Amino acid sequence: MSIFVDDDVLMKVAKVISGEEAVQIVMALKKFKEATDDQILSYIAEDAETEFKLNDVRRILFKLYNHSIVQCDGVRDETTGWFIFRWSLQLDQVEGFIKNQKKRILRILQTRLDYERGHDFYYCYTPECERLTFEDAMEYVFKCPTCEKLLEYFDNQKIIDALENKITQLEKEMSE
Ligand SMILES: [Zn+2]
Repeated sequence: MSIFVDDDVLMKVAKVISGEEAVQIVMALKKFKEATDDQILSYIAEDAETEFKLNDVRRILFKLYNHSIVQCDGVRDETTGWFIFRWSLQLDQVEGFIKNQKKRILRILQTRLDYERGHDFYYCYTPECERLTFEDAMEYVFKCPTCEKLLEYFDNQKIIDALENKITQLEKEMSE
């Protein structure tokens, strides 16, 4: 049932949520287990390439937080009386995130498959042009509205097969 969350998966998820910047933050959190935004920034700043500012770190942390990938504990600093936020990864939520992404992709693929199955397509076979459904092709009297070549029947079985394969593969992954 459980998806093994290795660094690769973790980095991919971070990237989906907030780009390359998030990858560095997530990897910093992985190293520290728990860290303040300051600690994360100074860790990342060791890499001279980056121009991260504290606000960037916070912005990304909150994005990750909104997706439940990180959690945050506020503790009062005994000397200053200020709240310090300590951030940590929620690896179990990373699995949930991946599952939701897969569900989302599955829905898109299913919709696309229904569309492909539910229509006949016509095509001028000019690479830059698009396929038309039978209904649209009729409207253009089977002449491509872009290049004006004759529209011919387009067999979309290969597309249907590819979509079905992808869906089967995703469903298998999700049931593991
Ligand atoms: Zn055309």
